[in-house]
Amino acid sequence: MAVLHNRISQKELKEKLYQESEPRVTLSFYQYFKIDEPVSFRDEFYRNLNALKVFGRIYVAHEGINAQVSVPTSEYDNFKKYIYSIPSLENVRLNIAVDNDGKSFWVLKIKVRTKIVADGIRDHTFDMGKKGQYVEAEEFNRFTDEPGTIIVDMRNHYEYEVGHFENAIEIPSDTFREQLPMAVNMLADKKDSKIIMYCTGGIRCEKASAYMLHNGFKNVFHLEGGIIQYANVVKQKDLPNKFLGKNFVFDDRLGEKIGDEIISHCHQCGQPCDLHTNCKNDGCHLLFIQCESCKIKYDACCSLECQAIYNLPEAEQKEVRKGKKNGIMVFNKSRERIRPRL
Ligand SMILES: [Zn+2]
Ligand SMILES: [Zn+2]
Repeated sequence: MAVLHNRISQKELKEKLYQESEPRVTLSFYQYFKIDEPVSFRDEFYRNLNALKVFGRIYVAHEGINAQVSVPTSEYDNFKKYIYSIPSLENVRLNIAVDNDGKSFWVLKIKVRTKIVADGIRDHTFDMGKKGQYVEAEEFNRFTDEPGTIIVDMRNHYEYEVGHFENAIEIPSDTFREQLPMAVNMLADKKDSKIIMYCTGGIRCEKASAYMLHNGFKNVFHLEGGIIQYANVVKQKDLPNKFLGKNFVFDDRLGEKIGDEIISHCHQCGQPCDLHTNCKNDGCHLLFIQCESCKIKYDACCSLECQAIYNLPEAEQKEVRKGKKNGIMVFNKSRERIRPRL
């Protein structure tokens, strides 16, 4: 059996990638389908992708697969052929990243997980086989023109804050697992209404649509390929764009503008702004929105407290950080985490 783990150091691997002259295609895909034995699926998948020099991060679970990879251009056709040869992945949508230098990954990691999207669902009768119907951009526009259609944003608050579809409702939580039961409760009297769910790339709203059906909702749809695909199709086909503001994604730019408007505000001074940043204090790293003038005023920190720490010598900063553990911190308006610190 092939070795499943590379023993070369991360640093060497990264250097190797930078020496590579062949360009790479960066892409993502996911599919919900039943995998009876995720471990053997993983091993087989690893052997085949490794032979094609694929790098990336892939999660495999009983409920399916979620992958972000880079493929050498010369192997792309072989890669596609291999992926499509797996019956449940035949014609799966491969989302190619447009402005990417192909250097995002320098090793192939395939991990077996309980779920490809953590959902907190304990009910064993829940079945991803029964999910909502796909809608694409044109249909989405038509459906959302109809009175009574409910549009549900299944992303986190910080994503909704900088951009969302016209009239979309927010499910106010920081985690998807909390949002699922919350959505069911919020829409409890709308079981017969037409409900369209969406997220960034489709993976979350697809699960959410199945969860709504499982809870007795009858007309549930979800946006195929999420906001990313919608924005592409709207541009290609010159359709009316119903997305306001910016689509938040974890790349260097922390998002891409889709609508021209700025719908969010600087968390420090309140002026219109949609620029996310991480607090410069290494002991904080809070993700929040900061305008250019507040960036200067606060040295790109989220609060005066963080600014004071950030301006200490590095050794003293380390002292302050000792023993403090940071989770992923995001600013959430409903919890007002930033205010008391200012
Ligand atoms: Zn500001
Ligand atoms: Zn901070």
